[in-house]
Amino acid sequence: MLGQEVRTVEEAGAAAIHVDVMDGHFVPNISIGVPIVASLCKATRLPLQVHLMIERPIEFVQPFAKAGAHLIFVHQESTPHLDRAVSLIHEENCQAGVVLNPATPAALIREVLDRIESVLVMTVNPGWGGQKFISQTMGKIRELRDTRARYNLRFRIAVDGGVTLENTAELVSAGCDTLIAGTSIFHTTNPGAAVREMQRAAAEATSQRV
Ligand code: ZN
Repeated sequence: MLGQEVRTVEEAGAAAIHVDVMDGHFVPNISIGVPIVASLCKATRLPLQVHLMIERPIEFVQPFAKAGAHLIFVHQESTPHLDRAVSLIHEENCQAGVVLNPATPAALIREVLDRIESVLVMTVNPGWGGQKFISQTMGKIRELRDTRARYNLRFRIAVDGGVTLENTAELVSAGCDTLIAGTSIFHTTNPGAAVREMQRAAAEATSQRV
């Protein structure tokens, strides 16, 4: 089932597969673990992003890297040793990303911004389904875009939670490079078409970006 969904979005032109790993502690739900990530990596040619919504993420960097992750996201809120987490991810030859929950200010990750490949802005609280997009997070996206430009940094800005075809253009205009969508792709009758429509809207907004 998962393999079929992955092939569908791969054929539609998705740039990567994003997997949420939840432990029932850092977030209330429990989701997939290392073995499923390993089998997903075998099922696709696309780079696989692993989003660790877990406590003690440092202990799980290596297992997910060995499973084939291309990029590993850790939450700022999940570890007091963010710098160490970023180093470990790079030592495993993966790209490093840091995630900010809706109430976490971007300033808290200033010291690692020049070393990471991606910042992921959560626009809902992770782990609960069916939430509305928290619109205040748009300001954080713009702040990250401005910081990146001011200091000539290169991290990508990703957004996760409540991403739909309707808000795609606004997110891209605010500075998002990576749109992560689950429900608005897979809870439709035609996931492939949903990917293509979202990409078309993103490309149009990118071309209008100043
Ligand atoms: Zn995620």
